[in-house]
Amino acid sequence: MEKIIKFSNAATHFYFDSSIKQLSKIADKKSLVIITDENIFKAHTAKFKGCNVIALKPGEAYKVQATVDEVIDTLIKMEADRKTVLVGVGGGVITDLTGYIASVYMRGLRFGFVPTSILALVDASIGGKNGIDVDRYKNLVGVIRQPSFILHDISLLQSLPQSEWENGFAEIIKHACIKDAAMFRQLQKESITSYQEDSRKLSDLIRRNALIKTRVVQKDEFEKGERRLLNLGHTLGHALEKEYELMHGQAVAIGTTYACHISEKITGFAQTEDVVALLEQYHLPTYASFNKQKVFNSLKMDKKREQKEMNFVLLDKIGKGVVKAIPMKQLEKIISRL
Ligand code: NAD
Ligand code: ZN
Repeated sequence: MEKIIKFSNAATHFYFDSSIKQLSKIADKKSLVIITDENIFKAHTAKFKGCNVIALKPGEAYKVQATVDEVIDTLIKMEADRKTVLVGVGGGVITDLTGYIASVYMRGLRFGFVPTSILALVDASIGGKNGIDVDRYKNLVGVIRQPSFILHDISLLQSLPQSEWENGFAEIIKHACIKDAAMFRQLQKESITSYQEDSRKLSDLIRRNALIKTRVVQKDEFEKGERRLLNLGHTLGHALEKEYELMHGQAVAIGTTYACHISEKITGFAQTEDVVALLEQYHLPTYASFNKQKVFNSLKMDKKREQKEMNFVLLDKIGKGVVKAIPMKQLEKIISRL
C-alpha cells in the first residue's frame, strides 16, 4: 500500500506491507547504494544480491563522524553522483547515519529507508531528523530532511533479537499513552508473542504507529509544540540512560512510569496502574532505584529546560498527552519523593 505524506517542503512515499525486492521499482537498481549493518547483512544476504551494499559495524558507537568519512570514501570509490539514491536498511543507527550522509554528500542526494527494527519502523525512520553523536552527546550534529520514501518489509524482523522487540514496544506504548486510547486497549489484549505470530496484526500495529508519529511531525516539523509530546518518558529516561546502563526502551519505560507519577500530582492523572501493568506485560521495567540528586542534575542539563522551568510531557488521561512547564524547584521536590 502506497501513501504519500506531505511535509513542509518535501513528500515521503510510504510503502506499507511491501518487500525489499520492490526497491528496484522505486529507483533504478544501478543508482541504488544500500547502507546497512553487518548483523542485517548476515541475516539477509540473499535479499541484497546484485545490489551495491555498504555494510557497517553495528551499534550506536558507530553513529559517529568516522563512519561518515568511511562511507563517503566508499561512495567516491563507487563513483556515486547526484543520481545516486542512498537507502538505509537497518535500525535507527543506520537510518540516522544514511539520512545524514545523503544530506551532505554532494550537497544532498535522494535517500530512503527500509527500517528493520521495531524502533526504526515506528519512530527513528520518520520525521526527518538525521544525525550523528559527538563524544557523549547524542545526535549533537545533524539536519532535518525528509526521506523520499520509507518501505516496510516486516519479514526482515524475523532476525531481530527479542530484546530489540521489547525496546521498540516501549515507543509503541508511548504512542498509545499520548495519542491513542483504543490502541492502548488493543495492546492490553495482546503480547509481543501474539504480534510475532500474526504478521497481519503486526503490520497493522506498525502502520498505525508510523502514522501517529507522522501526524505529530506533520503538525510540528521543527519541534515548537506538538512534537514535544513524543518525548513522554524521555526526559527522565535520557537522564537514567546516561547514568545507568539501560537500553533506550527500558529507560523510556521507567521514564514513562515516573511521568505518570508526576502527572498524578500536576494533572490529576489516575491511570498509572494501567500504564505500569501494560509496560510489564511487554517485559519492560517500571522501576529503578536511582540516585535522585544525580538524575536531577542530569535533568538540569537537558536541552528541554527553559530557564527556571522545564517542559515536561505528562498525561491527562490515557490517549491524551500534554506538555506542562514545571518550575525546577517543584520538579526537584517531586523527584526526591518518587
Ligand atoms: P540499532 O540500529 O542499533 O539496532 C539495534 C540492534 O538491532 C543493532 O545491533 C542492529 O544490528 C540490530 N538489528 C536491527 N534490525 C535487525 C534485524 N532485522 N535483524 C537482526 N538484527 C537487527 O538501533 P535502533 O534501536 O533501531 O535505533 C536506535 C537509534 O535510533 C539511536 O541512535 C537513536 O538516536 C535513533 N533514533 C532516531 C530517531 C529520529 O527521529 N531520527 C528517533 C528515535 C531514535
Ligand atoms: Zn525514544
